[in-house]
Amino acid sequence: GDAGVPGRVRVAVRLRPRNAEEMIADADFADCVELQPELKRLKLRKNNWDSETYEFDEVLTEFASQKRVYEVVAKPVVEMLHQFLPHALKLSTLRNNPFLSVLEGYNGTVMAYGQTGTGKTFTLGRLGEEDTAARGIMVRAMEDILGDTSPETDSVSVSYLQLYMESIQDLLVPANDNIAIVEDPKTGDVSLPGVTTVELRDQKSFMELLRLGEAHRFAANTKLNTESSRSHAILIVHVKRSVKGRHDADQSFHGENGTSSTMVTSFRPPIVRKSKLVVVDLAGSERIDKSGSEGHTLEEAKSINLSLSALGKCINALAENSPHVPVRDSKLTRLLRDSFGGSARTSLVVTIGPSPRHRGETSSTIMFGQRAM
Ligand code: ADP
Ligand code: MG
Repeated sequence: GDAGVPGRVRVAVRLRPRNAEEMIADADFADCVELQPELKRLKLRKNNWDSETYEFDEVLTEFASQKRVYEVVAKPVVEMLHQFLPHALKLSTLRNNPFLSVLEGYNGTVMAYGQTGTGKTFTLGRLGEEDTAARGIMVRAMEDILGDTSPETDSVSVSYLQLYMESIQDLLVPANDNIAIVEDPKTGDVSLPGVTTVELRDQKSFMELLRLGEAHRFAANTKLNTESSRSHAILIVHVKRSVKGRHDADQSFHGENGTSSTMVTSFRPPIVRKSKLVVVDLAGSERIDKSGSEGHTLEEAKSINLSLSALGKCINALAENSPHVPVRDSKLTRLLRDSFGGSARTSLVVTIGPSPRHRGETSSTIMFGQRAM
């Protein structure tokens, strides 16, 4: 996978360090993985003398800083939001409407997948208020987006949601529940009518919103007696940019529509580009016991397994360049529909722990990442 190739998924693996318990209890045992970051390889131990080797776009060890993780996992996706030239793959849509001044933007997605406790939230959601080096991807991405002070940026706004058991809840206004996903039949663009979208001017307001969203998420899960590891947390960032009188890049497709490009040039409406970044802290990937013995209902187990396996199928389809990406199977994939394929960029970080006790889960997380490439 290469984020430079449209439609492809870029996959990184990140290992977290042993925690105190693992240092003590597993002191006599080797880690279940061995990383070779310079070769972008990971070895998964099968037994004491044999291991399986896997390659990723990026291999991040337990020593990788949050800054480095942001740079390799998210920065290429965030930078794309600032680009202006219409992408060839979206031109077909534009050709159908000569008067269209709102250009299709670039959609980007950053997702973290892995067993509960392996560092998904550490990687994406850490606020880092006590220590700025600890800031996660959401905070760093917003710093870059809001820090871009070019006059072309009209507005930056965010929504923060939770998807639990096939139901979408607004984490900024939690009474806003059961939100519908609406797809534009012509463009395939996805919108969530009724979701709170807050326009932001500075990073301080973003931090406040994220903190508020986290508090609501905690409260909602306490009330329902669920764990946050069972839900997907989704940050959506809308970036609206416009350029006045810079139409050179767009004349070719206006011209090809049969209308003259001179006409377009003469009234020169501003070109508005709407881009969207979606950051998804996925539900824990560990297999959920369908018997209910661990306190999960059968419905809960089914819906979580459903959305993650639906996501896996879509990612596989992208990796195989298949013309059919099965987005309809779950709310999660329907929500991400306009972030798959086309000119969209997707970056996936799979998080793993070193403990030999979790070798099975680690192995299935690695396989999920491999299938995405
Ligand atoms: P998840 O969201 O996947 O359930 P968390 O992000 O909550 O996992 O991480 C579980 C624990 O491991 C937390 O205490 C977190 O601080 C710690 N942790 C995770 N990744 C790292 C890392 N790369 N370095 C240090 N500690 C980490
Ligand atoms: Mg988490």
